[in-house]
Amino acid sequence: MSLHPDKLRAWAVINLGALERNLKAIREAMPAHLSYIAVVKANAYGHGLAPVVTRLMRAEADAFAVANLEEAARLREVGTGWPILVLSVLLPDEYEEALRLRVRPLLSCPEEASALAALAARMNCQAQVHLKIDTGMGRLGVWHERFAELLEAVRRHQPHLRLDGVCTHFSSADSDPEFTALQRARFLACLRHLPPELLPQLLVHADNSAGIESFPRGGPFNAARVGLLQFGVRPGHGSLLGDLVTEPVLSFHARVGLVKDLPAGTPISYGQTCRLRRPSRVAVLTAGYADGLSTRLSNRGQVIIRDRLCPVLGRVTMDQTLVDVTDLPQPPTVGEVATFIGRSAGCAISVSQFAQWSGQIEWEALCALSARTQRVYRTDSAL
Ligand SMILES: *Cc1c(COP(=O)(O)O)cnc(C)c1O
Repeated sequence: MSLHPDKLRAWAVINLGALERNLKAIREAMPAHLSYIAVVKANAYGHGLAPVVTRLMRAEADAFAVANLEEAARLREVGTGWPILVLSVLLPDEYEEALRLRVRPLLSCPEEASALAALAARMNCQAQVHLKIDTGMGRLGVWHERFAELLEAVRRHQPHLRLDGVCTHFSSADSDPEFTALQRARFLACLRHLPPELLPQLLVHADNSAGIESFPRGGPFNAARVGLLQFGVRPGHGSLLGDLVTEPVLSFHARVGLVKDLPAGTPISYGQTCRLRRPSRVAVLTAGYADGLSTRLSNRGQVIIRDRLCPVLGRVTMDQTLVDVTDLPQPPTVGEVATFIGRSAGCAISVSQFAQWSGQIEWEALCALSARTQRVYRTDSAL
């Protein structure tokens, strides 16, 4: 690799050029009138909020979505002028800050609407809100059969509340097209309660990464909330996504810290869960579960060293991981790079493969990369 990882022990390389190209590819796959809401919660899925957001702003994302106000404030520091949706529930003691930051909360019940409106009245301002409809996720949102009550509460509180959007969230867009269609139908039925002249002024959104492929060409939808896919990872294995090609954005590495030969029968790592079946050459890598490697990789995951896949031996420990390098034509040298996610000339480990070995879903594996894993940014452009 071209990067010189001097003095790094565990690090992720984030290719911002690939991120930008992914946004453009996804945009091209979606109907042209769609707003692209870039979901950058959880430190932009572990990729680092500020650099990711900077690049997505440059790539002309229309809006952003985060999980909480701290993320919203950090996003505002990067650039103003982009609408920010807060996807998670706001606690009452956060409303004031939410109004100050001018973020757009998602409301789930009339009580939230009243409390927010009362505060907006006191602060002499207007809260722009999206109404969230629970069409079968069972998490946030008003149950779809009771949408009219939430809508009425917002109407009652004009002008302190201003309706900016309506949305729902799919539970199974990557696995159950029938249920997704049902959720979509329930959502569309709710929209009938809205005055028809109001609808085109609202942001109407349901789709996450996995939903995009089933995006209906007609109808009132005019935005999608894209998270995982922009990082070059396809959601789920039964994904409905067709030919959309995205590039991997992130790779994850550590270095070989020690190489040693051990006799057959030697137990390896805590709990002796592995015993060498042959005389072996073992490499100690400079990353462990404190860096973002799941202990589920123990005796199961693989790592690229010198363009070969090398199996993890024994338990992953807090700061170090052991791998079998016996079959490499040449022993690795101390300091050289080992890759947990990424590619070499002849091998590749995708985020999905890494997550599968880790017993995690893709989102979870990315979020697990810890703060100790340094983020290194490459900025090759799309030119
Ligand atoms: C995280 C999230 C998304 C993005 O989901 P991806 O599968 O990562 O595209 C969209 N909407 C909501 C409400 C979310 O919480």
